[in-house]
Amino acid sequence: MLYERSSQLFAEAEKVIPGGVNSPVRAFKSVGGTPIFVQKAKGAYLYDEDGNRLIDYINSWGPMILGHAYEPVVNAVVERAKLGTSFGMPTALETEIAQLAVKMVPGIDKIRFVNSGTEACMSAVRLARGFTKKDKIIKFSGCYHGHSDSFLIQAGSGAITFGAPNSPGVTAGTAKDTLLARYNDLENVADIIRANSGEIAAIIIEPVAGNMGCVPPAKGFLEGLRALCTENGILLLFDEVMTGFRLAQGGAQELFGIQADIVMFGKVIGGGLPVGAFAARQEIMDYLAPLGPVYQAGTLSGNPLAMAAGLTMLQEIHNDATLFNRLAEKTAYLEKGIDKKLQEYGIKYTINRVGSMISVHFDERPVTDFESAKNGDNDTFKKFFHGLLKEGIYIAPSAYETWFITDALSYEDLDYTIEAVGKVAATF
Ligand code: PMP
Repeated sequence: MLYERSSQLFAEAEKVIPGGVNSPVRAFKSVGGTPIFVQKAKGAYLYDEDGNRLIDYINSWGPMILGHAYEPVVNAVVERAKLGTSFGMPTALETEIAQLAVKMVPGIDKIRFVNSGTEACMSAVRLARGFTKKDKIIKFSGCYHGHSDSFLIQAGSGAITFGAPNSPGVTAGTAKDTLLARYNDLENVADIIRANSGEIAAIIIEPVAGNMGCVPPAKGFLEGLRALCTENGILLLFDEVMTGFRLAQGGAQELFGIQADIVMFGKVIGGGLPVGAFAARQEIMDYLAPLGPVYQAGTLSGNPLAMAAGLTMLQEIHNDATLFNRLAEKTAYLEKGIDKKLQEYGIKYTINRVGSMISVHFDERPVTDFESAKNGDNDTFKKFFHGLLKEGIYIAPSAYETWFITDALSYEDLDYTIEAVGKVAATF
């Protein structure tokens, strides 16, 4: 496959956009080479500017769960656009999508829409702090909750007491209020709570981690967090930006049977338009302006095009009783096929999967947290990525990302992918 036009477009982009991209992972920094410029997409396939067709395993990092250019969503957006694209005034559409979300997600009474997952998580943390009147939060190493200052934190020297900024521009003052814990390590969380007794507003977590590859919660881990939060007056925040409307109608809360205090959404809830949301029981949500003292706002929040896309997407999901089974079956089929091929060629690997989230780590030890995720061999990953790309298959250009499976994938696409994995593994 040739990527001449993509290379030209990237060179032009680099002159006027930092790194040529509007979000860093798109730049292929960790796998090398030139990013692919997309012209259009339909169903399970991307079509790039050089005329190549690629099977897409990223799907806009999650939203395109029913495939690209999904007709009901496209039609809803087109029809809505004719009526005006933004008003900064309430619309009936916002109530309609809110009603459906409240019906689908366990334990929430009210939801507020924002424009990205970052905004949802940032606002949820402010709400948690305002509601509990405490300042500190616990987050887990390797979990990503967007690029808001409080989340760009790494383990500091006294990890049990406070974190350190992991990007210039994040102040030490902000970093001291974010405490870093190890994913799947309840004892560690309990120690941090003890060392910061009465000071913690919230624990924020990806209930299935998807930003260190896919890392499932160990048995009892989420239950344990729920109990620790309840015992200590801490709010449990589930970042369901990836898992929401993907693992089940009611997301990870439904899948694992655990109730969080605030839940955050993004990706699928916008049907491919810029949407995020956060939701909770009434008592917490009514703490938000204009009812309550915690301020949060947005000129384009609840934008009619975004709400039309999101509402149509949620309706499609809500009306499809077998969607999540189909997705899990397709992904399990892929897992089994890749597993067989990598074994056949004696590759060291671990595959993690929950429903339609899956990732291949190039290390044979279990991957249960950020430390073990880092064991993965990046040189092998690079070969894997570029080998698959040559075969017309697009996986995330980083070893730390999850693949998002779409229902638009056929079993022929999956068989083709499995064969390609064998071909690539033979060259390692
Ligand atoms: N939370 C999680 C779990 C995410 O995966 C992401 C983005 N990948 C975000 C939050 C941030 O969402 P956005 O990129 O829409 O700001």
